[in-house]
Amino acid sequence: MTNELPTLEPEVFRRQAHQLVDWMADYLRRVGTLPVQPSAPPGAVRSQLPAEAPDRPEGFERIIRDFEAIIMPGMTHWGHPRFFAYFPANSSPPSILAEMLTATLGAQCMSWNTSPAATELEQVTMDWLRKLVGLPDAFTGVIQDTASTATLVALITARDEALRRHDAKAPGADPRRHGEPPVSIDRLTVYASEEAHSSVAKGARMAGFGPDRVRAIPADDRFAMRETLLATAIEADRKAGLIPACVVATVGTTSTTGIDPVPAIAAMCRRESIWLHIDAAWGGSAAILPEMRWIFEGADQADSLVFNPHKWMLVNFDCTAYFVRDRDALRRSFATSPAFLKAEHDDRVVNYRDWGIQLGRRFRSLKLWFVIRTFGVDGIRAMIREHIRLGRLLAEWVEQDGRFELMAPAPLALVVFRYLGEDAGKGGDPGGEREIDMLNERLLQRLHAGGRIMLTQTRAKGKYAIRLALGHLTTREEDVRSAWETIRSAAAELEDTGGAGSGNQGRGE
Ligand SMILES: *Cc1c(COP(=O)(O)O)cnc(C)c1O
Repeated sequence: MTNELPTLEPEVFRRQAHQLVDWMADYLRRVGTLPVQPSAPPGAVRSQLPAEAPDRPEGFERIIRDFEAIIMPGMTHWGHPRFFAYFPANSSPPSILAEMLTATLGAQCMSWNTSPAATELEQVTMDWLRKLVGLPDAFTGVIQDTASTATLVALITARDEALRRHDAKAPGADPRRHGEPPVSIDRLTVYASEEAHSSVAKGARMAGFGPDRVRAIPADDRFAMRETLLATAIEADRKAGLIPACVVATVGTTSTTGIDPVPAIAAMCRRESIWLHIDAAWGGSAAILPEMRWIFEGADQADSLVFNPHKWMLVNFDCTAYFVRDRDALRRSFATSPAFLKAEHDDRVVNYRDWGIQLGRRFRSLKLWFVIRTFGVDGIRAMIREHIRLGRLLAEWVEQDGRFELMAPAPLALVVFRYLGEDAGKGGDPGGEREIDMLNERLLQRLHAGGRIMLTQTRAKGKYAIRLALGHLTTREEDVRSAWETIRSAAAELEDTGGAGSGNQGRGE
C-alpha cells in the first residue's frame, strides 16, 4: 500500500491528449471500414476484464492498449455511414471538440451563479433553435438530457396544472368549487396515439397517472392519431367524472414517422384546457427546413414540445431541446430553493435547476453553439434536406421492386419496408402473414450477420417490418444504394437457404 497522492501533470495530459486526438481523427476516417456492429456473444467483453478494481496506478499506454483490444471490438459504431438502426445518435467534429471543452471545464451548470456563461449560452442557443423551427416567442427553451426526460417533465407539469385548476383552495380557483374535496390524481387521464413512443407510457407511470388512466388512441393507415377517436375518448372520460390532463401528440413516430394531426388536436386541447405536449424527438429537426415547416403546423398552440438535436442535428448525445409556453407552471413543478443554493442574483437570472428533474447539469449548450456556428444553419439544412431526398429515393426503389412492400409513408428520412418473397415479384402469392414475418426476421438476421449495415425491426399494423433511418453526417447516396443492394441480395439468398429463424421482435427503439 502506498500513500502517494494523485497529481495533475499538465504536460503528461498534453502528450496523452494529442495521442488521443490522433486516434480520434483516424477513427473518424476509418469507421466506415469497420463492421457496423460487433459479432462477439454476450459476456465476451466482461470476461476479459478483472473483477476487482486495480489498487495500483496503471499506465496510460496499458489502458489504451486494453481499450483497443477489449473495448473497441465490443462497440457498435453509431457513427458508421451505414448505421441505419433506431434513430442515429449524432456526432460531428465541432460537437466532439465542444464535448472535450465541456469535460475540461468540468462545470456544474445547475444555477446561473454556478456557471453564468453556461446559463446565458443556453438561453441564446435555445432561442436560436426556437426561431429555427418556427415556434413563437411565447415559448422558452431549456436543454434536457433526453426526450424521455422532457416528456416526463411535461407530464408532471400537466398533472400539477390539472390538480391546481381543480383545487378549490388554490389562488384564483373557481369559487363554485368552494367546499369541494381536493381532486385526486386517480381522476386524471392522459392520451397519446397507439404509435406513441414507449417513453410516454413510462413517463405517465412515473408521473403517477394510473395505468388505467392512460389512453392509447388508435392511429389511421398513415400511423397518425385519429382525432375523432381522441375526441370520443375525452368526452367519455369527462362523462365518467375523470379529468383529462394531458395529450401527447407525436410528430414523426419512432416506428413509422406517423405525424399526428396537431392543428385539430391543439384546438381540442385549448377548448378543453388540456395540456398539449408534442413529441417530435427525431422529426422535429426537419422543421428547420422552410419546406418542412408544415410538420409543426398547430405546434404554436401547444403547451410544450420536445425534439432532439442529438438525433438529427449533428449534436452529440445528449442534447434535448424542450420548449414550454408557461414557464411559471414548469417552475411551480420543479423549483426548489434550499438555503445552500441561494445566490445573490436569483431574482434576476434563470436557474435551470428549477426547469427540470436534475439538479446538476452538464454544459450542453456549448456543443450546440459549436455545431450551429461551424456548419451554419444553411449547412445543417443542406444535410437534413439531403437525408430526406435519400429517404424518398430509397422509398421509390422499394416501391419499384415487386418483391418488397413499402409499409409506411416516408415523409422524413425513415423508410419502413418488408420483403414479400421472390414469388411476389413474379406476381405470385406472397404467402401467409406469419411466413412473411418469419422471412423478414431471417432477412434482418442475415443482414446483421454480414456486418455491412445495421437496421432495426418494428411492427407496422401488426406486421413485422424493417426500418432504415438516416441521420448521420457522412451518409451519402452511395451508402444508401449499397445498403439497398445488400438488402436485395440477402433477400435473394434467403430463398436458397430456407428454414425459419427466430429473432428479436418489438419496436424500433
Ligand atoms: C427517440 C425517441 C424518443 C426517446 O428519445 P430519448 O432522447 O432517447 O429519450 C421519444 N420519442 C420519439 C418519437 C423518439 O423517436
